[in-house]
Amino acid sequence: MLGNMQKQGLVIPDLLEHAAKYHGSSEIVSRMVEGDIHRYTYADALIRSKQLANALKRLGVSSGERVGTLAWNTFRHFEVYYAVSGSGAITHTINPRLFPEQITYIVNHANDRYIFVDLTFLPIVEALHEQFTSLKGVIILTDQANMPETSLPNVMCYESLIASESEVFAWPNLDDEQGATLCYTSGTTGNPKGVLYSHRSTILHALGSAQREGLDINCESVVLPVVPMFHVCAWGIPYAAPMTGAKIVFPGAGMDGASLTELIQSEKVDLLLGVPTVWLGLLNYLEQENQVLESVERVVVGGSAAPISMIQAFDEKHNAFVVHAWGMTEMSPLGTVCAPTRAFKNLPSSERYALQSKQGRPVFGVQLKIVDDTGEERKCDGVDFGRLLVKGPWIAAQYFLEDETALDTDGWFDTGDVATIDPKGFMQIVDRKKDVIKSGGEWISSIELENAAIGHPSVQEACVIGVLHPKWDERPLLLVVLAEGEACDEGSILQFMTGKVAKWSLPDAVLMVDSLPHTATGKLLKKDLREKYKKFLIDMAD
Ligand code: ADP
Repeated sequence: MLGNMQKQGLVIPDLLEHAAKYHGSSEIVSRMVEGDIHRYTYADALIRSKQLANALKRLGVSSGERVGTLAWNTFRHFEVYYAVSGSGAITHTINPRLFPEQITYIVNHANDRYIFVDLTFLPIVEALHEQFTSLKGVIILTDQANMPETSLPNVMCYESLIASESEVFAWPNLDDEQGATLCYTSGTTGNPKGVLYSHRSTILHALGSAQREGLDINCESVVLPVVPMFHVCAWGIPYAAPMTGAKIVFPGAGMDGASLTELIQSEKVDLLLGVPTVWLGLLNYLEQENQVLESVERVVVGGSAAPISMIQAFDEKHNAFVVHAWGMTEMSPLGTVCAPTRAFKNLPSSERYALQSKQGRPVFGVQLKIVDDTGEERKCDGVDFGRLLVKGPWIAAQYFLEDETALDTDGWFDTGDVATIDPKGFMQIVDRKKDVIKSGGEWISSIELENAAIGHPSVQEACVIGVLHPKWDERPLLLVVLAEGEACDEGSILQFMTGKVAKWSLPDAVLMVDSLPHTATGKLLKKDLREKYKKFLIDMAD
């Protein structure tokens, strides 16, 4: 027997309608690429999104068509999110850090009709537009006064495009299973793959991530997503914040310590979200300037593992709690959160930091399991590790325009990560499966070694890779970028790491390098390094 309840679709424009009606005066503050700080409210955002939806209609954008964005986190990008998806088309966020050939590939693969572009990223479109096969026009996210000279054909100014449009727009009746937003993985091997989020998956993800056990966002929160809207929708903040009425502070292109500090202090931000490298930059700046963050309560760290030294620095110097989170493009992206509970807060700090360095428990909606190579489930004892598989309503079932399923026969998605799960359900990422170092019969976590090395005061960035070894198959090699003005040797780093990791897993060698390569999502690009240093230990022994 069926239940008797209404079948109300879960659709994206309802989030902004709700915010405008019940939290209409909550602010959206943006640092603009033009240099100024812009502020307005959810009520204003709704009106302008409707004007843009009318403009899209005039341009002939139809349901299901893809519209690209190459833009920072600002209020205009936010409006594009709502106007495009809300009118039934698909917002395709393009990561400007992808290689040019990858950008061309995804724009053509997605069949983008229009691209909304920030002034900063205009050169990318100028360089590549002749290779874009389906593009009808480019809209520059600025006003008439800041319109640049450009040789691009069919260029429009965002503010002029929407200026004379009606503020009235009736969102079409959308099927909530319809595609809403398209995001490509960064594809370190092969072409990037598209993940097409639906309206329903987006709303469920927002509901899951806003809850107390998730990112804990409410109408009193002041949220600063440093994670970009050009990759996995800034971890869903542009949806979860209006759902709750939280104030949003968009950093634009200002990801450096000075710009972030200024915005955090002046807007009284209490919740920060971003990847570890951004926080390292912020912490270094605060240290140099002898400043303390006054308003920040929690710092959500994800995308790569949060080192204990970072968890400790935020706690001891800024009284801010690091909330470690894990997810991936295919998961919209949120999977697990190490949310603070009371019991947790009462632990002695060293135990608490160790627990905070785990990626946490799944938010309701996400299921996890760890398995061995035969698919047999591993024990959840915090020691046994295995391939991490996931299931849930905001997890991809297949990639965009691909026929075959991305799931195994029981409907699980293999994340490519290796993890442990402890008896209380806290998951910890050991490594990406391809990055784990296989030394004799043992596995060594490159993440664990990197996190130990990064705590050394002279180390700015650390990367561990497995390189060939005549006896043990593979052994760890540590590559280190020293902090500016610092000097130190291999012995000092290895001594610092001793006692923090198992002795037998200590790197066989430490190499100082000027810089390390990163993927478009800021992760260490280990593939090329493995190739480059493959024979390092063998050559050293000769
Ligand atoms: P891509 O670079 O392909 O777009 P994503 O941005 O989707 O990848 O990143 C997903 C991967 O990032 C995860 O599978 C995991 O390996 C890594 N990751 C994400 N969060 C964390 C974390 N908190 N700790 C360690 N690794 C993480």
